[in-house]
Amino acid sequence: TLSKDYFVESIKKIAEMIEKERNYLTKLDSDIGDGDHGINLSIGFREVTKRLSELNENTEDISSFLKKVGMTLLGKVGGASGPLYGSFFMKMGTDVKGKEVVTFEEFIKMIDNGVAAVEMRGKAQVGDKTMIDSLRPGADYLKESDPNGRELEIFKEFIEVLKQGAKNTDPLIAKKGRSLRLGERAIGHRDPGAESSYLIFKAFYESFQ
Ligand code: ADP
Ligand code: MG
Ligand code: MG
Repeated sequence: TLSKDYFVESIKKIAEMIEKERNYLTKLDSDIGDGDHGINLSIGFREVTKRLSELNENTEDISSFLKKVGMTLLGKVGGASGPLYGSFFMKMGTDVKGKEVVTFEEFIKMIDNGVAAVEMRGKAQVGDKTMIDSLRPGADYLKESDPNGRELEIFKEFIEVLKQGAKNTDPLIAKKGRSLRLGERAIGHRDPGAESSYLIFKAFYESFQ
């Protein structure tokens, strides 16, 4: 099972990762966007970090903690990724309200709910060269897996699916987001949001080990 502490630790890990990868993500976004993806995420997760103990202490369960994380991102981050990641965290806990621990099966459902919230908000599908190109195949892989007793292994494979999903955006023309207007010039560049989604779950994985 995963406790609320696991989620708090994961958020810390994500925030650390974003500081480390801030320039890399910004570089990806300067190739096909407006060069602020790493900066946007850093602004958001610095605010989350600043408020982390308060958010943790003022919430009883996993769902309301993640909801506050999402609301903080939504309120702080300008740009497409703020509302999208905001919705992700806000909706992750929809089916586990009131719980202080969740099973790995419930965690899988949480990820699927988060991804569905991003799909609902952004209306992107796999192949549109967005974060959905890594998130959707990842969530589907988890849903189709049988994690019983193989949680760590499944989690690791999930990360590989996300990584591959991000790589799969390289040859694509964008159908959503800012890189849409680049047309064929987007070909050969990785989508920054697909890469940050992979890195965010890699941080979740590292806290799981
Ligand atoms: P902005 O484009 O407003 O500067 P960011 O640079 O922070 O915002 O985020 C860009 C990322 O947001 C893209 O790389 C893409 O993955 C994601 N994105 C943009 N629009 C959508 C959408 N409609 N659905 C899903 N993801 C999207
Ligand atoms: Mg941008
Ligand atoms: Mg921007």
